[in-house]
Parts: sequence; C-alpha cells; structure tokens
Amino acid sequence: MKKILLLVGGGHAHVYLINKIIKEKQKFKTILVSSSQYQFYSGMASAYIENIYSDNDIIFDLKKLCKLGEIEFFEEKVIEIDPENKNVILKSGKKIDFDVVSFDTGSELKIDNKYLDKEKIIGIKPLTNLKKIKEKLGDLKLKEVRFLVIGAGAAGIELSLAIKELEKKMNKKIEVHIVDRSDMLLPTFPKKVQEVVKEKIYKSNVILHLNEEVKEIKDTQLITKKGLTLDYDLILWAGGPVSNQMYKDAGMSVDEKGYMVVNQFLQNIDFEYIFGAGDCISIQNFSQMKKVGVYAIKEAPYLWRNILNYFYCKSLESYTPQNEFLLIISLGNQKGILSYKKFVLNGSLAWKLKNYIDKGFMKKFNSEF
Ligand SMILES: Cc1cc2nc3c(=O)[nH]c(=O)nc-3n(C[C@H](O)[C@H](O)[C@H](O)COP(=O)(O)OP(=O)(O)OC[C@H]3O[C@@H](n4cnc5c(N)ncnc54)[C@H](O)[C@@H]3O)c2cc1C
Repeated sequence: MKKILLLVGGGHAHVYLINKIIKEKQKFKTILVSSSQYQFYSGMASAYIENIYSDNDIIFDLKKLCKLGEIEFFEEKVIEIDPENKNVILKSGKKIDFDVVSFDTGSELKIDNKYLDKEKIIGIKPLTNLKKIKEKLGDLKLKEVRFLVIGAGAAGIELSLAIKELEKKMNKKIEVHIVDRSDMLLPTFPKKVQEVVKEKIYKSNVILHLNEEVKEIKDTQLITKKGLTLDYDLILWAGGPVSNQMYKDAGMSVDEKGYMVVNQFLQNIDFEYIFGAGDCISIQNFSQMKKVGVYAIKEAPYLWRNILNYFYCKSLESYTPQNEFLLIISLGNQKGILSYKKFVLNGSLAWKLKNYIDKGFMKKFNSEF
C-alpha cells in the first residue's frame, strides 16, 4: 500500500507543493483538505477590490490543480487532529489517516464571535470574502454608502484605499472610516512609510479614528469605548491574525499565541511526521516573525524537500527566516509604497514591481498548466 501524505489547508506553501507534485510524480499518495476549493492570493487583494484584477488573476482553483497532480481533494475543514493515531477529523465527520501530514492553514480573524454571522459585517478572512465585499457594495441600493473598516494594519489600510478607488468606478459615494485601538499607524514600518500612508489616507478622504476601540456594534451604528458613534451600511473587520485553536486542542506544543511550534526543519517538535508552514506555525527561536505570506512562500521549498527527505529517510534541511524582506503596500490607483530595510520608494514604480512579482507568482503556480 502506498504511504499517505496529507496536506491540510491550500495556503501559499501548499500551492508550491501541489505544483511540485504535478511536475514530479511521487511514490506516495497525496490528499489535500482545504476549506474552500478557491484560494485567493492575498498580495493582489486590494487591486482585486479596485477591479484591476479579475477572479482569474487572483484565484487558485485547488480542485483543478489537484486533479492535474492526481491528488485527492476534499473541500472541507479539518476540525480535530489526533497526532498520536495519525489521523484528522473533518467537519463532515469523515476521518482521514496519514503517514505524514503538513499544515498550511494560515491564521484566523480576530473577531468577536457574536459579530460573525451578521449580514452587514464581513471579515477579511477567509480571503474568499473579498468577492463578498464587492458583491455587497454592488448590491446596496443606496447612492451614499457608509463603510467602516475595523483595523488599521496594512490589510485594513490597503482595502480602505482600494474602496475609495472603487467609488470612482461605481455610481455611488462611499464614505470610508477606519477605526483602530492603537495610537499610530503601521507601528512596525519605517517612519517614512507611516507618514506617506497617513498623508495618502488624508488626501483620499478616508477618515481615521485612532485610539478608538469598538465597544458595541448595533444594527446600523458602531459605538467605541470612548463614546464615538459611527453610522454604517457595511463593516469590514480587518482585525489582526489569531491562531487556529485545533493545534492546542490536539495537545501539540503551541507558542503563547497558540501557533503550532516547529523546529527549523519545519517539523513539529513533538511529532516528527508532522510538518507545517506559513502563518499557522511558530518556528522555535523565531516566534516574533510577522504573519505575512512572504514567509509561507520562502518556507515552501524547505517544506517540500524535508517532507521528501523524511519519506526517504534522508537528513533534513534547516530553514533560517530572513530578518528583512521587501514589503509593498498598495495605495490605490496603481501606486504603492515599498520598504526594504531603510530604503523607501513611493509611487507607481513600487506598484509596478508589486504587480510584476504577484503576477509572476500566479503565472508560475496557476496558469502554467
Ligand atoms: C487583505 C490582505 C492583504 C495581504 N497582503 C499581503 C501582502 O501583500 N504580502 C504578504 O506577504 N502578506 C500579505 N497578507 C498576509 C497574508 O495573507 C498571509 O500571511 C498569508 O495568506 C499566509 O499564508 P498561508 O499559506 O499561511 O495561509 P493562507 O494563505 O491563509 O491559506 C490557508 C488556507 O487553509 C485553509 N484552511 C484554514 N483552516 C483550515 C482547516 N481547519 N482545514 C482545512 N483548510 C483550512 C484556508 O481556507 C486557506 O485556503 C495579506 C493579508 C490580507 C488579509
């Protein structure tokens, strides 16, 4: 009987693995379980909202890719892991056994559960919600829409500016407010980036409410702890990432935020046949790494080689995360701000570079087939 490699989550790193399996047939059988058949590429999210990119540009069809690689695909959510007995349980109740498993389930949205099923509140995660944002804005029969974004991180800012650009293409006025409990924008970015972004927000007529924490959300009003009341038609919840509870529930070692702890071979520190990459892991001695897709992409080749090495009893390769990486924030209308170490570049060249990198990624892993 063939051994089984189970991939949980169709995130950035696993898209790389799927690509490898399509190109290089393996002796083991592979199964992918992911909550949605469609995986959105986050780097292109805001330009997708602006209608610069289409569905085809930004979406991986995991089912189609799996078919090409003879990978069995389940559009389902894993809700339980039994690491000792080497199986996972899906939401439908189905049990899947594995010999080796890899997790690339990303991070989840930090949102109060009571707001999750509200019609007018859309979470930024899962990224399949990007489509919902555009549909909901289009469906609103109002000429003037009040749109609130909770969270002034890079994602919340990019999407707020994109919505303002979308306004120009739609036959309606969209008033955008950003609410954040912190007293500064993008605290981990260079000062120059903070200044440029703040000015862009101001010039775009996006209204920024810093130092304001959400207390209550009623049907048409948001109230902050300090008593600020904002009317709204739609809310986008872009709160920071949190971990999936299932790793802790499975009795695995997790860091203080609940992310699965792996060593530098991207291998679980308790179970050698469990691997992981991307937002869902915390690498020993590197627990402060940002939750950005860049890491999932950089980890992917190590993850793949180490899974193969484990299967074929070879020694594993150590991955060292880079301290500095190129970050480009989209500022709308095909402009952006790039930062790398102390270097900052503002304008259309930054966006063009982002477009080149992101389109290249999609071409390599999606449309080459
Ligand atoms: C709007 C936005 C813009 C961003 N822009 C950038 C950017 O420009 N550059 C950058 O580096 N980062 C960016 N990020 C951050 C980036 O999205 C994440 O760091 C990245 O997606 C993490 O990749 P991943 O492979 O870990 O998981 P993800 O890409 O989140 O994929 C996880 C997959 O696992 C599936 N899944 C989750 N739980 C389960 C489960 N229990 N069972 C089965 N399947 C499951 C999900 O459906 C999803 O398909 C952005 C984030 C947002 C929200």
